[in-house]
Amino acid sequence: MTMSRDDALAAISLVCEQERIRVPKLSLTSRQGHARASTWHISVPRWALATHEAYGLYYICHEIAHLIMRDRNTHNAAYQRKEQQLCSIFGVRITGYSHRGIYPANHEVRMA
Ligand SMILES: [Zn+2]
Repeated sequence: MTMSRDDALAAISLVCEQERIRVPKLSLTSRQGHARASTWHISVPRWALATHEAYGLYYICHEIAHLIMRDRNTHNAAYQRKEQQLCSIFGVRITGYSHRGIYPANHEVRMA
């Protein structure tokens, strides 16, 4: 199962409600995703939403974690704890970070 833009917006709303933060603007991109706290905006790649539902949810949580942590580039331990916590809202588990220790591979993200 893959995610539509509406699915992504619903997921973003749920995370923001739980975290008590404003809902960011969303763009879908064919490039890498990003987050920008100064404009309260995230972008998520279409391919991530099309990979599988857990991976799409993971990617959304990855970008929102950057907004909450107020940074764009750091993927340190505190950041990864926040990312995992957001993923757990959906029952999504990250089992490893094989890409440069920052990004999980598709098979490392799944429904718990
Ligand atoms: Zn990142």
